[in-house]
Amino acid sequence: MAKKIEKFPSKIWLSSPTMHGPEIKYMTEAYQTNWMSTVGENLNEIERLACEKVGCQYAVGLSSGTAALHMAVKLAGVQPGDRVFCSDMTFGATVNPVRYEGGEPVFIDTEYDTWNMDPIALSKAFELYPEVNVVVVAHLYGTPCKMNEIREICNQHGAVLIEDAAESLGATYKGIQTGKLGKYNAISFNGNKIITGSSGGMLLTDDEEAAQKVRKWSTQARENAPWYQHEELGYNYRMSNVIAGVVRGQFPYLEEHIAQKKAIYERYRDGFLDLPIEMNPYDVKNSEPNFWLSCMLIHPQAMCKQVRGEREALYISEPGKSCPTEILETLAKYNAEGRPIWKPMHMQPIYRMNGFVTREGNGRGKTNAYINGGAVGKDNKPLDVGMDIFRRGLCLPSDNKMTPEIQDCIIEIIKRCFL
Ligand SMILES: *Cc1c(COP(=O)(O)O)cnc(C)c1O
Repeated sequence: MAKKIEKFPSKIWLSSPTMHGPEIKYMTEAYQTNWMSTVGENLNEIERLACEKVGCQYAVGLSSGTAALHMAVKLAGVQPGDRVFCSDMTFGATVNPVRYEGGEPVFIDTEYDTWNMDPIALSKAFELYPEVNVVVVAHLYGTPCKMNEIREICNQHGAVLIEDAAESLGATYKGIQTGKLGKYNAISFNGNKIITGSSGGMLLTDDEEAAQKVRKWSTQARENAPWYQHEELGYNYRMSNVIAGVVRGQFPYLEEHIAQKKAIYERYRDGFLDLPIEMNPYDVKNSEPNFWLSCMLIHPQAMCKQVRGEREALYISEPGKSCPTEILETLAKYNAEGRPIWKPMHMQPIYRMNGFVTREGNGRGKTNAYINGGAVGKDNKPLDVGMDIFRRGLCLPSDNKMTPEIQDCIIEIIKRCFL
């Protein structure tokens, strides 16, 4: 008889902060020396550490990764009404800053090899919208996108490339760190990221003038004058020196976290060998992810019936088959947290009027025929790649404090969903 699996006594998180000790020391130092503002040694030090790690020239500590992306979009010169090509299967914060500047995101479909922006669809998008000159690309779940191809296409069209490396700090593409591959790049220290400040982010660039602008804009755009003199629009986006203390304490543990996350990924991969499941893929030859989140994708023929509305989901259990909803609900029963794949932007109600480009061209012609996230085409085939991965995929509990024994139980729970 199969072994009984008990509900986990404490919750197994998708990805939670892991503190090590030095964080409190640097926060306390800020307190004791009274550098309790957006200036101080912690901030200086983490900007230096980020440049050293990523290999870029300039880093500006900001209140969030979203703020960093907003500054990047502003640096790229996005004007009201400008179309901007953006990753489609990503977190909303990748694309919202385009809207803050009045720009209009046009979403580029995903490819199966890395679950990131599809270079072929990006080429197609430049055929449809040749005037576009800014591209925002995310490295989903810590897996680098096909950067060579994407950069080549951007260069051909004279487009500025912005990298959203919020999830991928420490990941490399052809030996180069993500966060160094675009012109203006963003990283995040939000609570669930690979290292955290509890919040915070950074703009990374090799452009000195750009870094200086962001330093100025993020501290209310004050001019050099005896009084508060303003010639440009300012923001209160600078990182606190206390938060920077947490980040400073975390930096030395980045590689350790990555090694733990990689071990988790490989344990899942090996544990799922007999199941109709694949892990989130990456370009083994050219890239080394940071393995921030482990994800799985169910083979089409092993999917049971699943229907998703805008806010809820239903499924019908079937022997030998399963679906993300069944697996996520089952994991939750055992007190483990998984999550659906980030719902693609072109499927989000707020962006339903925005352009969407697949390999075949304008993806809206067919996609507008459905409203909600569960819909599929005539012969039950998904209409685009992002939609397909969203339908069949899910993020697995990927907390670096999860023990191998607990992970083995999670693997067993998932196996039983397919019985
Ligand atoms: C977390 C995240 C952001 C935003 O970072 P914050 O620091 O939370 O503002 C942006 N893009 C992606 C892909 C993210 O995962």
